[in-house]
Amino acid sequence: MFYCVLCEKEVCYLKKFCDKCNKVKKYINLYEDRVYTILDNVLSRDKEKQDNKISAEIKEEIENKNIKLKNHIKRGTEEN
Ligand SMILES: [Zn+2]
Repeated sequence: MFYCVLCEKEVCYLKKFCDKCNKVKKYINLYEDRVYTILDNVLSRDKEKQDNKISAEIKEEIENKNIKLKNHIKRGTEEN
């Protein structure tokens, strides 16, 4: 039997990673060290605190994206 090299639980004959771990690999390629930071920040807590931390992490991401979007719209209206 061949298993996923990351989780070592899912059977993988033709690929190194199972579908779930391949998705994680894509996140790492996309977000690099941010993935490790989030995993350390979130998974080092108990379940209830994990949920709070996930909300906080997502809130920060959403606020940053809203600021970028506002700036983008603002620049767009100034150019026209
Ligand atoms: Zn896997």
